[in-house]
Amino acid sequence: MSQASFAASTPFTLLPFEKKLDRLAEVAVRVGVGLQPDQELVITAPIEAQLLVRHITEHAYKAGARLVTTFYADDAASLARYQYAPDSSFDYAPTWYYDALAAAYRSNAARMGITGADPALLAGQDPARVSRANAAASRAYKPAMELITRFAINWTIVAAATPAWASLVFPEASSERALANLWDAIFRTSRITGEDPVEDWRQHNANISRRVDLLNSKRYHSLHFFTSGNAPNGGTDLTVGLADQHLWCGGGATAANGVYCNANIPTEECFTTPHRERVNGHVAASKPLSHQGTLIEDIRCTFENGRIVDATATAGQDALRKLISTDEGACRLGEVALVPHNSPIAQSGILFWNTLFDENAASHIALGQAYSTCLVGGESMPQEQLASLGANHSLIHVDWMIGGPAMNVDGLFADGSSEPLMRDGDWV
Ligand code: ZN
Ligand code: ZN
Repeated sequence: MSQASFAASTPFTLLPFEKKLDRLAEVAVRVGVGLQPDQELVITAPIEAQLLVRHITEHAYKAGARLVTTFYADDAASLARYQYAPDSSFDYAPTWYYDALAAAYRSNAARMGITGADPALLAGQDPARVSRANAAASRAYKPAMELITRFAINWTIVAAATPAWASLVFPEASSERALANLWDAIFRTSRITGEDPVEDWRQHNANISRRVDLLNSKRYHSLHFFTSGNAPNGGTDLTVGLADQHLWCGGGATAANGVYCNANIPTEECFTTPHRERVNGHVAASKPLSHQGTLIEDIRCTFENGRIVDATATAGQDALRKLISTDEGACRLGEVALVPHNSPIAQSGILFWNTLFDENAASHIALGQAYSTCLVGGESMPQEQLASLGANHSLIHVDWMIGGPAMNVDGLFADGSSEPLMRDGDWV
């Protein structure tokens, strides 16, 4: 509380860096994961995020955490594997580690992921090896991932600036300046610069929740995305059918363990589950995609009855094609999300090369696994029932951005009528 009174009287920009970091840590614990007294917390983080993790750990114990356990990842060590490990290494993943995560979640541990790894770390590596390693990790991660997509426990993802990521986002700046700029962008878009960030988040969640309620009251059959004018990359004309019993979600939500949390800090999106067989037309990405260390640029895809039948990219095309052939569901949609162009992340104009930020700057779609929480009663449905409603199933879930100032969206009703939902990137 003493820190809150210090913060309340001092403008955010004048706070020492560690105070700003502490503010982000407090929001991560109280707003992000919503940690409960006596609950365990499992953190995964890049090693450069150590200082933020220490502040998070302090706030977690102040909130009554039973135990905080952090698993650090090191980009340099990941690269060493690509340089020196035997070829068989790339079909292997430490199942014991992922099983331990699943066991923790089953015993009601909360999860906090800290994102910040170099988005281009594996850009120079053999795409076949990268995709083999990703596929092996996805298979091993599946039991834990399923608990996350079913929203069994409270979880959150927050960001920490790291030197490599910062230099990619601000290539013109000195490395020191770039790092400071990226931290600043994280603080602003994570909505922690006001005098009372926890209250600011309560209001932000209330605004998103009003939008979600409105969308749910419409019962749209499909959404039609179309670009006007000279949209980049050939533009978009895509109809996305929505799953039967689809439910719009966004902002904070209550996990199956009864804990209210914000799964993403920042978050701006309203999202739901598309119908895996009712997506038709062509779509052009409006931003590049960084997927597991590979950059994929100028994605263009054509969908027929839910499946991608053609996919191109000007960079990373191999990685894209490998990604969509991961399994049967990897070439179908598992999420569709609406984000207005006037959101703070979009207005920052920064390309973050990181899905947590870029997906909250623009309307987007995701290939792969659907969130069962985006279906009425979905959390407790067996896989076959989810599939019968049109929800997609896959080892992957990869968001890519299609919205921007040129995007229009119509809501289509079952009787064929329609109404405008977004024009030139913003809500009508
Ligand atoms: Zn999304
Ligand atoms: Zn997503």
